[in-house]
Parts: sequence; C-alpha cells; structure tokens
Amino acid sequence: MFPYAVKEIRTRTALSPSSMKELKYAVNPYSGCTHSCLYCYAMDMTPLRPGDREWGKTVYVKRNFIDILKMEVKRSKRGLVGMSTITDPYQPVETKYRLARETLRVLLTHGFRVSVQTKSSLVLRDFDLISEHTNISDVGTTITTMDGKLSRKIEPLTPGPRARMKIVETASKENIRRWIFYGPIIRGFNDEEENNASIIELAESTGTRIIIDRYNSYTTPDIMLEKNGIKVKDVEYNRWWRKFSKEFRDACSKRNVMCNLESEEWFFQNLDITRTLF
Ligand code: SF4
Repeated sequence: MFPYAVKEIRTRTALSPSSMKELKYAVNPYSGCTHSCLYCYAMDMTPLRPGDREWGKTVYVKRNFIDILKMEVKRSKRGLVGMSTITDPYQPVETKYRLARETLRVLLTHGFRVSVQTKSSLVLRDFDLISEHTNISDVGTTITTMDGKLSRKIEPLTPGPRARMKIVETASKENIRRWIFYGPIIRGFNDEEENNASIIELAESTGTRIIIDRYNSYTTPDIMLEKNGIKVKDVEYNRWWRKFSKEFRDACSKRNVMCNLESEEWFFQNLDITRTLF
C-alpha cells in the first residue's frame, strides 16, 4: 500500500517529557518520517532507524500508543504537549492508522493543551476536533519556501507550498489558533526577498504569527544538504542571520505581522500560559 516499509512496534511510553523549554511533553506516535526532508534533525535523534541512508524509507508505527496514552493522561499533570517533535504526525501513514487524530482527541478531551506542527494538509481532516477546543490548541504550518521547485529539492516527499498555504488559510477562516514556522532558513537557498515577501503576505492576509529559525547544523543533515549542492558550512552564518532576522522582522512590523525568533518562544510561553505556543 505504501512505497516504503511500515513496521508495527509496541511502546512503553506515549507522553514524554520534552527537552524544549516551551513544551512540557512531546508525543510521537510514529518513529521515522517518510517526508524525507534533507535538513531533518530527527535523522540524528531518532533512536529507531535503519541507518542514515535509509531515512524516510521506513516508518515505525507504535500500535499500542493510544492505550498507553489513555493510562498516562489520568496520572499526569496537565501541560503543553507538542505533536510531534521528531516526526510529522500527518505523514501519509496516518491515513491508515489515524494515531495522530486519536492522540489529539485523548489529549484535548483530558484538558491538555496541544500544539501541532506539520507540513501536511492531512491535518485539515482533524480541524473538526481542533475547532471544538480552540482555547487549548494551535496549529503550526512549516513553510520553508513558496517556490515549489525549491521545496522539492529539500523536502522531496512533502505536500508543496500551496497545500501548506491552504492549512493556514483554513485555520484562519475557522478561527483556529495558528502560526507559520518559516524555517529552516538556509543562507543563499531560501532567504530571498521574494520568498520573504510571499510569506509575510500570507501571514498578513490570514492574521497569522510567524516564527523564524535558521538552519541549525547537525551531522547527517549537513552531509545530505552539501551532497545536494546546498552549502551550509559558512563562516559568515552568524553575521548573515543577525542581519536577515532583523530585516525580516522589520518587514513584518511594517505589515503589522507578529514575528518571533524560535529561540524566544520559551520566554513568551512563560509570560502567558494560555497563549498560542508559537
Ligand atoms: S517533515 Fe519534519 S520530521 Fe518529517 S522528515 Fe521533514 S523535517 Fe523530518
């Protein structure tokens, strides 16, 4: 059915403490991600993987994930849950297993705040559930570039920019809390003026906040990107990022679009527990 290996496994935990300052927990009902982005840091962080060159060719499905989650939510303190942190919850295998939907349902009905991040318009399927819990949920859409060809180069198996625009636009129409994650931004690849302007325009027209982050170096993604002719080893990187982020944020201010650096999120999160994660 799928053009990659799907392996069903069992897990002992579902709700994991998160190492990200802005999250209390992370949930990852799948391990591995068939979206196969070249820059994916999960390649270096996913314990279950058949090898770097096989990244994206196998996805592990935690078959008892929901049973474990149902037990854990009864005895765990409420808090913000990130779904997912090292895999896209709405990768194609979700059409069959529906673990992301059930995870959302269990968490939201037990009063946990959930922040979803995805690149896939399959999340639209679950807007019914999210709409019923708008005060404790938000949806983040990752957009690296509005240029479909560039996107294919670094995210070969993800839904393209148009599909992602649709997520943001629909969330706006349905009053779902939302944010655009513009990243990873790679110097000389997707940091062009035109791209910036299109993303700001989308944010402005939909009243959506933007979070920006540059590409952060990891061993395997560095190799994958460089192999594909995308330069990431760059001594000017810090200087470029300071300039880029300042100019981008200034451009956002002029259009009344709120923009934050990813590294600032924990601070905002601590200011107001009921606000959108990003
Ligand atoms: S969608 Fe996210 S988790 Fe999946 S390969 Fe791309 S970066 Fe990695």
